[in-house]
Amino acid sequence: MSRRQLVVGNWKMHGSRPANALLLDGVLQARPFHCDVAVCVPFPFLSETAVTLSGSDVRWGAQDCSAHDQGAYTGEVSAAMLHEFGCRYVIVGHSERRALHGEADALVADKAKAALARGLTPIVCVGETLAQREAGETEAVVKRQLAAVVQTVAHCAGEMVVAYEPVWAIGTGLTATPEQAQAVHALLRGQLRAAVADRADDMKILYGGSVKPDNAATLFAQPDIDGGLIGGAALKAADFVAICRATRQP
Ligand code: PEP
Repeated sequence: MSRRQLVVGNWKMHGSRPANALLLDGVLQARPFHCDVAVCVPFPFLSETAVTLSGSDVRWGAQDCSAHDQGAYTGEVSAAMLHEFGCRYVIVGHSERRALHGEADALVADKAKAALARGLTPIVCVGETLAQREAGETEAVVKRQLAAVVQTVAHCAGEMVVAYEPVWAIGTGLTATPEQAQAVHALLRGQLRAAVADRADDMKILYGGSVKPDNAATLFAQPDIDGGLIGGAALKAADFVAICRATRQP
């Protein structure tokens, strides 16, 4: 499979200016990588991250954006603003935002559309809870979540990155087996193919959920897994670098 893999660090609400400097320095020192690499950082750190990473091949992004372009939306940050800070990516529909901020499929879809309209690549997260998996609903849930976005962004769907993140695997130390993850990735790819035809073969579908240096390689070896969205392990340069190095050679 010729898709170049992508590893994205989701720092969540972690970091400080000195800690970020150390972390990014560790990542920059470890280049070159044979995959694409990015970090999605808290909003206040975007400016400094942009300065640190400019001129390198490590990209940066944010963890959310507004569905609106501008206006009276206190506390929100628009895709246009992220674009001004050189963001390449923005995560939308992370399960923590769906669960803790009540973000529904339609809002996630509008955020993805807003990101695409400003030239950002949305990393659209989908994934089932443990109860949904145990009830045999995994396929229905992830297909519903992805369908909402695909319908809204229409012909731009081929420009997104999708991240399959089973909710039960995020921050828990439980990881989907490579076979479990591959099965879901294959069905997501099939759904994308129905929407954007052959372009689906070039789209990246990331796996996220307790990816660590010791389990990354077997996950990334699966044919429809195109890299990872990494939470906890993205906060330590050595672990993040080891995960980047566990990607397939293009
Ligand atoms: C995430 O937050 O997207 C994530 C996958 O977290 P973790 O790697 O810590 O499970």
